[in-house]
Amino acid sequence: MRVLVVEDEPELLQVTAQALRESGFAVDEAADGEEGLYKATTWEYDAIVLDLMLPKIDGWTLLGKLRKKKKTPVLILSARDGVRDRVQGLDIGADDYLVKPFELSELLARLRALIRRAAGQALPQIKIGDVTVDTRTRTVTKDGSLADLTGREYAIVECSPFSAADW
Ligand code: CA
Repeated sequence: MRVLVVEDEPELLQVTAQALRESGFAVDEAADGEEGLYKATTWEYDAIVLDLMLPKIDGWTLLGKLRKKKKTPVLILSARDGVRDRVQGLDIGADDYLVKPFELSELLARLRALIRRAAGQALPQIKIGDVTVDTRTRTVTKDGSLADLTGREYAIVECSPFSAADW
């Protein structure tokens, strides 16, 4: 499990990253919104922990830009009195939130729940008859042998796996 933590308070970033690593996560860190946006859009993460008040690019803007490209589950961190902040974050596409200061055990529990939910929604393999479409490796097999498809052909099959069943 790979997680990105975007947080500009060095101590909180360090403590959070450390707790996540001790729980078995691979953790990337970003200390401002610009670095966070770059990493979030460049690499694949199972979840992102996102502070809202960040230098360079704030958390809402980062989230809005990320959502145009990716559905990576995002848990936002907000100030205690930031009800409007949280509502805005959820509206833009955050999946959960935690109010600062938070217990690390609650952060871990919520992250695990987020990742479980996201994994439940994802459909890595689609099977119809003897045709299998693997959406992670972007391959199609029929009767166990790999079909030689171009990227465009693959995209068509992924949208409509029934078309491959007619081969
Ligand atoms: Ca902050």
